[in-house]
Amino acid sequence: MTGPTSQGPDPQGQDPQGGAAAPGALVLDGWLRDVLRCPACGSTLADGEAPDGAPRLVCEGDACALAYPVRSGIPVLLVDEAEPAAGTV
Ligand SMILES: [Zn+2]
Repeated sequence: MTGPTSQGPDPQGQDPQGGAAAPGALVLDGWLRDVLRCPACGSTLADGEAPDGAPRLVCEGDACALAYPVRSGIPVLLVDEAEPAAGTV
């Protein structure tokens, strides 16, 4: 008596990867964004945009609010390179 080896079809053909990243937008993985912190005050960073349209990361600390530039998709988290984000959108 040999039992029949039933290999049912595995419905794993769907890959829920909705890549809806707008071109030119700052693409940061969630975990990476969660890790990145403002070196000045330790607050989290949010996606921002410089007046010239360049992407940057803006500190969410009220008393800090520094904006860090993003060069070639790499956030430059240096206080020396940051500039106040106050007065921007
Ligand atoms: Zn900060």
